[in-house]
Amino acid sequence: MKKEIIIGAGAALFLFLVKQGLDPVPFFLLAGAMGALHYYLRNRGLEKNFETLEYKGEKEFISHVSFADIGGQETAKRELVEALDFLREEERTKALGIRPLKGILLTGPPGTGKTLMAKAAAHYMDSVFMAASGSEFIEMYAGVGAQRVRQLFSRARRLAQKMGKNRAVIFLDELEVLGGKRGKHTSHLEYDQTLNQLLVEMDGLRAEDGVRVLVIGATNRADLLDEALLRPGRFDRRVQVDLPAKEGRRKILEIHTKNKPLAHGVDLERVARDTFGFSGAHLESLVNEAAILSFRKGKQEISLEEMEEALDKVLLGERTDKQLRLEELERVAIHETGHALVSETLRPKSVRTLTIIPRGRALGFMRPAGEEERSLYTKKYMEEQIAICLGGAVAEEVIYGERSTGAANDLEQAARLARDMITTGLSSLGVVDEDCTPQKKIYREFQKIMTSQVERATTIIEAKKDHLQQAAVVLLAEEKISGAKLRQLLKMDPEPAATRTSA
Ligand code: ATP
Repeated sequence: MKKEIIIGAGAALFLFLVKQGLDPVPFFLLAGAMGALHYYLRNRGLEKNFETLEYKGEKEFISHVSFADIGGQETAKRELVEALDFLREEERTKALGIRPLKGILLTGPPGTGKTLMAKAAAHYMDSVFMAASGSEFIEMYAGVGAQRVRQLFSRARRLAQKMGKNRAVIFLDELEVLGGKRGKHTSHLEYDQTLNQLLVEMDGLRAEDGVRVLVIGATNRADLLDEALLRPGRFDRRVQVDLPAKEGRRKILEIHTKNKPLAHGVDLERVARDTFGFSGAHLESLVNEAAILSFRKGKQEISLEEMEEALDKVLLGERTDKQLRLEELERVAIHETGHALVSETLRPKSVRTLTIIPRGRALGFMRPAGEEERSLYTKKYMEEQIAICLGGAVAEEVIYGERSTGAANDLEQAARLARDMITTGLSSLGVVDEDCTPQKKIYREFQKIMTSQVERATTIIEAKKDHLQQAAVVLLAEEKISGAKLRQLLKMDPEPAATRTSA
């Protein structure tokens, strides 16, 4: 219909121009060029992502990841499997009149295995698997995103039919980009249309469809999602995928070292203890980096040494080529030894390694020995932690009579801890509400905490000033020393007093 109107209008324009005695050729050339440009841009936009998916080959759409390939995340896996069982036991759920499940939302920090979970879900359900990311839907042309959503759903159905499956899992990563609260974006028409289309597609998913489609969304900003998406009947199951705890980290390490030759003495339990706060993606990267280091050194196996070095790399970044002047290096060695001395005094055997090899933004680093994971922090713990943070700057002050800018990061950390102490009622102010307490009062308390911990660190460092300087000289020469060697140099007690035998 549209085509006929354009042809009719073109013919009328041609007759009109001829009648007026004007040459119609330039007009038609210009119109033709504009039409071609419009057609090109439109097709480029529409076809971009999902066409290329089809060319990957159909094997790509069958997931081979199973729940056994996911380490840790036991609660998340259990919740997800429970939800999937509703779909697997269709007859029973139908008999009880349970509303069919259409969407599951996986929330959690990056790299914790949300994509793996969705793939494992597709495997568990014997479904085809299609994945797309929220940002792939958003273009500057209104309507393109909505069109892509339509295409994705219809393609998933067609693909399942073609492969003889009656289920399809559509995985939408970065859901907050596509499903953010409506009316918030500057180009909101395009965003809103895209989200509306997703809601329409999800509402249209019925048990009677030849192919049952399950949508699994993933986000690390669930707070940004439009409420309509979280309504019952849409993403009404939410599964939290958190950073793994120690046992989970050990299992993830086991999975990723399965195909790698580990040298005798590499204790994954210990590596798991040392990697507090690491996501699954970090752990995978750690093991991979260790294997690369072994390869570079011409080794046949991955030893503890490569594991330790890879840990520093994943934690702090690649070694930098920063060339420090000798006096700067000496200062860094004093600074790091200062942290270590305070740490060893307050918490014996708490230092794993000490290094002055610059990595990422850090000029040196004290790596604490992996301690037991904790969810609660006492006042004593917080105060000790502040003193350890300030130990570097205090050592510089004691040895050189002045501090340097190298302590900026430590001060930031110490300040955050002091603020946390105040807001959680651990300071001498008792329980306070920040909004109802005068800023002056909070500031004074903050100063009090910081000053007392500076004094504490100063006392510790003054008492072992000579040992600190000797240890720093060794650190400067060796660039990296172990916790055991450090304790020897600082003349810390080799064993706890209780276990020492009297001579
Ligand atoms: P993002 O939010 O950044 O998209 P994600 O949560 O989807 O990340 P994945 O893409 O699933 O994370 O994980 C990235 C990689 O990290 C995986 O390919 C895998 O190698 C590893 N990984 C993450 N979590 C786990 C886990 N629990 N078990 C085993 N490997 C894991």
